[in-house]
Amino acid sequence: MDKRVLITVVLIGACAGLIFYLYQNVFLPMKPTFGRSARLNEWLKDPAGHPEWTLRAGTRCSPAAPFLMPTEGMIGYLWDDSFKVGKRHQGIDIFGGTEVGKTPVVAAYAGSLTRLSTWKSAVIVRVPDDPLQPGRQIWLYYTHMADRYGNSLISSAFPPGTMEKTIVAGTLLGYQGNYTGDAANPAGIHLHFSIVLDNGEGGFLNELDIRNTLDPSPYLGLPLNARASDGSAVVCPGGVNQ
Ligand SMILES: [Zn+2]
Repeated sequence: MDKRVLITVVLIGACAGLIFYLYQNVFLPMKPTFGRSARLNEWLKDPAGHPEWTLRAGTRCSPAAPFLMPTEGMIGYLWDDSFKVGKRHQGIDIFGGTEVGKTPVVAAYAGSLTRLSTWKSAVIVRVPDDPLQPGRQIWLYYTHMADRYGNSLISSAFPPGTMEKTIVAGTLLGYQGNYTGDAANPAGIHLHFSIVLDNGEGGFLNELDIRNTLDPSPYLGLPLNARASDGSAVVCPGGVNQ
């Protein structure tokens, strides 16, 4: 075989292999997230066009679910969605469809609230007894409650440095914002909510690693696991407002 033909065949094979690898390892894991982005954009343009995609704050979506919906809006992204290669989403993102500081965020479950002195947009609530696995301590993390410049939208009841303040389910925590730490690149206005594992010494593990978080599906009584999702929008039929 002509040497040039051989080189061409090898190059085509290498390209095909690379394309197949990228398809399997990059495109396929991220495809459901792209689909959710498209649906979220549709809703943000016209929430009234799909009222069933709007979940109400304080709603219990299944009788067996211990948690209430922590804010109002569309659940745009799920636990284990993938926005970047190798990055797995550790919580759920609920978009209010309003301006910054308008959509209330409430406690999904009772516990003891801490806001570290450096936290502008986040609080974490210690739940000493996991309602779905009694005896285990878990932590509920709520974030993006500040504007793009870091002006906090957290309730004045929880100033920076708050430690172990007792709250009940439904307590107002603050309002949805778009803080990311980079004023030039704010997030869409939403609440990020996650369930974080305890470190075994009375503290919480690093929330940024999905392995330190729990699938919130059974806690909220909704299909919130990206890999198990059938791709349809998350709805809460027959949800009971508490
Ligand atoms: Zn998020």
